Amino acid sequence: MTRSSLVPAGATEETGESRQRAWVEVNTAAIQANVRALRRHIGPDTQLMAVVKADAYGHGALPVARAALEAGAACFGVATLAEGVQLRRAGIWAPVLVLGNLTQPEELRSCLRWQLMPTLSSMREALLCQNLASGSGRAMAVQLKLDTGMARLGADWQEGPRLVAALGGMDAIELVGIYSHLACADAAPGEDDGLSELQQRRFESVLTSLAEQRLEAGCRHLANSAGTLRSRQQHFDLVRVGLALYGHPPAPHLAGVVPLRPALGIHARVTLLREVGAGVGVSYGHRFRTSRPSRLAVVSIGYADGVPRQLSDRMEVLFEGRRLPQVGAITMDQLVIDATDAPRIEVGSVVTLLGEQQGQAIGPIDWSERCGTIPWEILCGFKHRLPRLAVAPEPGAPIAPESAAEP
Ligand SMILES: *Cc1c(COP(=O)(O)O)cnc(C)c1O
Repeated sequence: MTRSSLVPAGATEETGESRQRAWVEVNTAAIQANVRALRRHIGPDTQLMAVVKADAYGHGALPVARAALEAGAACFGVATLAEGVQLRRAGIWAPVLVLGNLTQPEELRSCLRWQLMPTLSSMREALLCQNLASGSGRAMAVQLKLDTGMARLGADWQEGPRLVAALGGMDAIELVGIYSHLACADAAPGEDDGLSELQQRRFESVLTSLAEQRLEAGCRHLANSAGTLRSRQQHFDLVRVGLALYGHPPAPHLAGVVPLRPALGIHARVTLLREVGAGVGVSYGHRFRTSRPSRLAVVSIGYADGVPRQLSDRMEVLFEGRRLPQVGAITMDQLVIDATDAPRIEVGSVVTLLGEQQGQAIGPIDWSERCGTIPWEILCGFKHRLPRLAVAPEPGAPIAPESAAEP
């Protein structure tokens, strides 16, 4: 992996691409460690799909996909056609499932051209695929999605056997998978009213009817990260892992099931220091006032970079392993921290917003709990302005991760 492959276009030559104002650091060795740990958990009979939609949850689809593949991911999940084509154009030819629904004939034709598997939720899309693939000389690989209780994409699960039979009669289509999606898999035990188990039983009942009718539907899958960590009964032939791949458990009670390493770091520089007295209002609206003579540090990162404004006065940054409080409203491009207790901080110092320092860690879950969202949304917020850089290798670490280390 070259460093430049992690830098978005526009952030390179003119700006020096380097660690200047603020940046995202992506640790692909952590991605690989997570793939390996998850594979050990699911065992040899279950495959791992690396879900790399939304630019790999803000980590960069291409470096993440390459790292995951090297560590043993079998295939990829994306949300949109463009995300699938991006992998193909980069020369990544492992199987790719488009998890979103494609409705237009041109979109499905692109799937055929780029060998991306569309998700079918109804006969409508099945017929479109059959029409455009017949005469192309190549059968189109597709997967069927069933709704077992999420009420989003997918045909009603009771329709499953009938649809599989109908697809079996379409000569230009090859059904290579059947799947469903859990709605509440991250709920604490006893808090989802048994919905995940109900969804699992519905899915299993479809599979049983298929077996009875000798209908073949290919690879069977149900679990996202939460399903993967909560129950082996939900693994089937493949698990679709997103959040856990990036090193985060989907819920506190699922932490520790598999050892995970966060792959994303957010760092920014101090650009100005200011000594103020007590009672000074800070930033827009003066929502914070100093209670003592203070040393304030301006940090060059803001909500346009992906730090949620709702975290104003509710977050901390790490400097030399110490937590410093952020104060006042977070603005579009900057925020202020109270550095009174960190006399060594100076202009140019680097603070860590997300990541680890000397045993102290701040993760997307800490943020999401404080501002009323979910860690998924926090991670997806960092795809706009910040350059994305490969993490500096640890001293003494090998330059390239050793893929032969896989047992
Ligand atoms: C996004 C997505 C996943 C991955 O979910 P995580 O909770 O991040 O593991 C799995 N399956 C489908 C259908 C998805 O859309």
